[in-house]
Amino acid sequence: MSPARPFQVRRVVVKVGTSIVTRGDGRLALGRLGALVEELHALHQHAEVVLVTSGSIGLGAARLGYDAVPSEVVDRQACAAAGQGALIATYDALFRQLDLAAAQVLLTEDDFLHRRRYLNLRATLERLVARGAVPVVNENDTVSTLELACGRDRVFGDNDRLSALVAAGLDADLLVLLTDVDGVYTAAPGTPDACRIDTWQDDKVSLGPGSALGRGGMGAKLRAARMAQHVGVHVVIASGFVPGVLGRVVAGDVEGTWFPAQAGLSQRGRWLAYASAPDGRITVDAGAREAILSRGASLLPVGVTQVEGDFSASAIVSLIGPDGTEFARGVAASDARSARARCGQSGERALIHRDDIVFLQLDPEAQ
Ligand code: GLU
Repeated sequence: MSPARPFQVRRVVVKVGTSIVTRGDGRLALGRLGALVEELHALHQHAEVVLVTSGSIGLGAARLGYDAVPSEVVDRQACAAAGQGALIATYDALFRQLDLAAAQVLLTEDDFLHRRRYLNLRATLERLVARGAVPVVNENDTVSTLELACGRDRVFGDNDRLSALVAAGLDADLLVLLTDVDGVYTAAPGTPDACRIDTWQDDKVSLGPGSALGRGGMGAKLRAARMAQHVGVHVVIASGFVPGVLGRVVAGDVEGTWFPAQAGLSQRGRWLAYASAPDGRITVDAGAREAILSRGASLLPVGVTQVEGDFSASAIVSLIGPDGTEFARGVAASDARSARARCGQSGERALIHRDDIVFLQLDPEAQ
């Protein structure tokens, strides 16, 4: 019998959340971690495996004597410093028992934002998997939360997004988000109207009020999953509490919620769309938005209503629709001053050439 979900898994990124890694009292859930590592080892027999793991802050909070996971940034940074060592030491010991090398990779926003660092990161991860190691990735919380103060949008604010960026950057076939809920529900799990969505299709899904999105960080998972499917990665959100779930997900069995991979973006397009930090914003009218999205047109000055920022030619800029929503990114063909001077005027010289524009995944309501 052919699998319900026909994907070939040569490279898989698995993300586990704090609720899977730690027990209610903040200590390591050793049984679960041991089982997870055994499943990853089985997977590693026929696929390359990358693990993205949360848990350093929760674990560190228990170690440093906090009653609960603190909310203040400096406390969380201290917790991450205290917890990450214990986390990686445990993975290292468990993988070692199965003759696998765990390789710690701690990432900050800058590793994605700067294209050279991003390419370097990709090369390092590629080398690790080629050497048969399992990269064990987490955000470098001890330093990177400082960046919160800088006032710009974050590339990733959570490990769901981080795992989606890693999967996109590494051309993974599959991203598995293991959490404490066995998928995305149409309403809060346990309520009468709640049913699990097996396959996520934007046009078919309607989430009821009070749906599962507010719980267990499901909103963040959903956004990360939709981003990864948009660039061309299959995603499954499944329960990390169910033994053997990973093997069944990879075999294509119906487990959790599946986000089928879409046609996909090139590697440059993936970075441009989701990892870069735009230097400016160009707002366009409805006609220009439509021409770009439906006909793949270049951006001409006539459709531009506003140019913000002080960017140079070849900088990355956001394209904003009349509703204020960013719908694409592109590489500017001229600097901000000349773009502003030509704003709204006719003329065939494009402000952004069609080949330098990538579309973003839009919210279903905004499409
Ligand atoms: N990096 C955080 C930790 O290790 C978790 C962040 C997240 O789960 O989104 O505790």
